[in-house]
Amino acid sequence: MKTIGLSLPNLAVEPVLENLRECLESGWVSTGGRFISEFESKMKNYVKCVDAVGLQSGTAGLHTSLRVFGVDKNQEVLAPTLTFIAAVNPITYLGAEPVFIGCDHSLCMDPNLIEKFCSENCEMIDGTLYNKKTGKAIKVLVVVHVFGNMADMERIMEIAEKYNLIVLEDATEALGTYYTEGKYAGKYAGTIGHAGVYSFNANKIITTGGGGMVVSNDQEFLDKIRFLSVQAKTDPLYFIHDEIGYNYRMLNLQAALGTDQLDRLESFIETKIKNFKKYEEAIEGIDGLTLVPFNENNRANHWFYSVVVDKEKYGLNKDELLLELVNSNIQTRPIWGLIHQQKSYLNHESSGTEVAEWYYDRVLNIPCSSNLTDEEADYVIAKLKEFKR
Ligand SMILES: *Cc1c(COP(=O)(O)O)cnc(C)c1O
Repeated sequence: MKTIGLSLPNLAVEPVLENLRECLESGWVSTGGRFISEFESKMKNYVKCVDAVGLQSGTAGLHTSLRVFGVDKNQEVLAPTLTFIAAVNPITYLGAEPVFIGCDHSLCMDPNLIEKFCSENCEMIDGTLYNKKTGKAIKVLVVVHVFGNMADMERIMEIAEKYNLIVLEDATEALGTYYTEGKYAGKYAGTIGHAGVYSFNANKIITTGGGGMVVSNDQEFLDKIRFLSVQAKTDPLYFIHDEIGYNYRMLNLQAALGTDQLDRLESFIETKIKNFKKYEEAIEGIDGLTLVPFNENNRANHWFYSVVVDKEKYGLNKDELLLELVNSNIQTRPIWGLIHQQKSYLNHESSGTEVAEWYYDRVLNIPCSSNLTDEEADYVIAKLKEFKR
């Protein structure tokens, strides 16, 4: 039996082949070409932003955004501990230090913990927040919409305003998630802070093999990102570079996939919601297992499904269940190692990590691909029932 993957790409071969053929026949395979602007334009229209800049990865988007915000070695940046590490590493690339904040029951950064850290551990001097212990300035906050669930942006934006923080939304997992109620009704994850970053890595909700995009309503900011992404070429004929740039621009080949993928995003989300509901109904009947819900005030893209395993009731802990599922050809994964516990970040300050640690001990992600079949979902459910002791 073939393995049921955790989160597989959902690619339409024919329309993409047609686009790729055009790239190959025209020779536009690199960082120029019509698919890049077409994909950027579709993205900005989809998330309703002034502009979008295509890059080779989400990590590149986070790195360049932090760079343009002016993050440097005299600064600390607030970031989540429960995240994929790519949300945090770019802070370190710039010589700054992350301060880790714990999560709430949405698995996203807890606004109460951000507020607590800012009010108790920091002080405002001339409109800038400083960490009292280290004396370093804190000017930027990176928030991650974990597994496609919208972080509490109403509270986070209020806190950011109070402490004069620039908000960078790592929306790499949350393309398509938008508020349906409240102050930000109609607003997409990635478009509420100063800038947002998406990823098109192979396991994300849409893919270009690898790729990323930065969106914002600040045109000047995005122009700067575009400029830095092509080695900061000030004069393209004489190759004059007044700043240190990067080779980060998206390829036409990647965009040739992206434009077709974006056309099908809404249908992917529909399938993900349908499968989530199917799992939810079944798991309600299994004592000791629950699914982490998506927040009610938004239409989440339902990218990843998180099962919480209660060993007392279920009889197995998450690691034991993982082994059983893997032996049944079902790919599952524990949540990422928390960043404040990773070797490179052990000496960094962290605040309120208990809830993240609680979930780390219990959560497994189960197959959630947008091409998961009914039979496959039924098989996963049958196994989850079977393994209960
Ligand atoms: C995938 C991901 C990234 C990085 O995106 P890449 O395109 O792989 O560089 C960053 N942050 C989070 C939370 C992610 O899940």
